[in-house]
Amino acid sequence: MKLAIFCDFDETITRTNVTDGVLERFADPHWLEIQEHWLAGKLSAREVLEYQMPLVTVTPEDLDAFINSIEIDPLFAEFALSCAQKNDSLYILSDGFDYWIDRILRRALSAYNGMVKKIPVFACGLSVKDNRLDISFPYFPQGCIHGCATCKSAIFNKLKPSAEKTIVIGDGVSDLILAKDADLVLAKDGLREFCQRKGILNQEYNDFSDVIRIISAFREKTFEDNIGDT
Ligand SMILES: [Mg+2]
Ligand SMILES: [Zn+2]
Repeated sequence: MKLAIFCDFDETITRTNVTDGVLERFADPHWLEIQEHWLAGKLSAREVLEYQMPLVTVTPEDLDAFINSIEIDPLFAEFALSCAQKNDSLYILSDGFDYWIDRILRRALSAYNGMVKKIPVFACGLSVKDNRLDISFPYFPQGCIHGCATCKSAIFNKLKPSAEKTIVIGDGVSDLILAKDADLVLAKDGLREFCQRKGILNQEYNDFSDVIRIISAFREKTFEDNIGDT
């Protein structure tokens, strides 16, 4: 049975939100006021980044040193390896930025070099130019009705037909848009609260040891259900 697994990045694979960390450390403090507007629902996920990221001044060396200090769930690599071995499709969908997601993943997977195929990452674009951050929204440049930075919903709908079952792993409001359409939802924090409120079935996880256990139970259960049907 082929699974398509859609996994969030910030506070799911990493312990903290990397974008917020970069802003806290390197941005003009005005970013916090913009954050308040976003929390109050006055700005979309995309707009908030368009306003906040230009407030950052950082050298590539300082940025990379900060990125290298970000803590990763220690069992994420094992999870990625098990996806590769079972031929499941693992995708990372994020409102964060490719620049640091790529670097953090490379570090996370370094022990399994060559064993885990490159994980497709759908995220916002970022490059450093003259100590400023240049951002873009490749998924999708024209935007969407939700105001997403990365439209997880559009990507999910595009990739979903390639698998028999879909799984969503996340912690935040941007993951809710997928949760209602997935066969299995692994949720924590904000996403778990939203799912409970909206009556969306979900399983609680804290880290990737839970993720590995819950998905393997789901696989067995689905396999048995399929045998039951024939
Ligand atoms: Mg998150
Ligand atoms: Zn969207």
